[in-house]
Amino acid sequence: MARIGLVAHDDKKDDLCAWAERHKAKLSQHQLWGTGTTGSRVMAATGMTVSLLKSGPLGGDQQLGAMICEGKLDMLIFFIDPLSAQPHDVDVKALTRLATLYDVPLANNRSTADAVLAFLVDRTDSE
Ligand code: PGA
Repeated sequence: MARIGLVAHDDKKDDLCAWAERHKAKLSQHQLWGTGTTGSRVMAATGMTVSLLKSGPLGGDQQLGAMICEGKLDMLIFFIDPLSAQPHDVDVKALTRLATLYDVPLANNRSTADAVLAFLVDRTDSE
């Protein structure tokens, strides 16, 4: 079972909920973690259980970063809004930096999320 982080900026939350619903059969076999608002929205949209961290701007992104440092997150789905400035941009940058540093599969849009999830499922199946 993999530990998967879910985050989406406000304009991307609908996209992430739709993506999670589409992949519900696979995702429900794993442990899901989400920043506060994203995680609540995914739970409401899909009925899956998501362990909730703080809201992103209140430290949730940093909590996910800490999980990565501690080897407690296997994959990060982070739908970034490329058209809006984020008040917590430094946290966003820190989280993506740590995912890169620790070689955690990171998806910032839907196509990559599809590919990363397929990769993870293949990897988990072969273990
Ligand atoms: P949220 O945080 O899920 O609490 O909205 C996401 C983010 O980092 O913007």
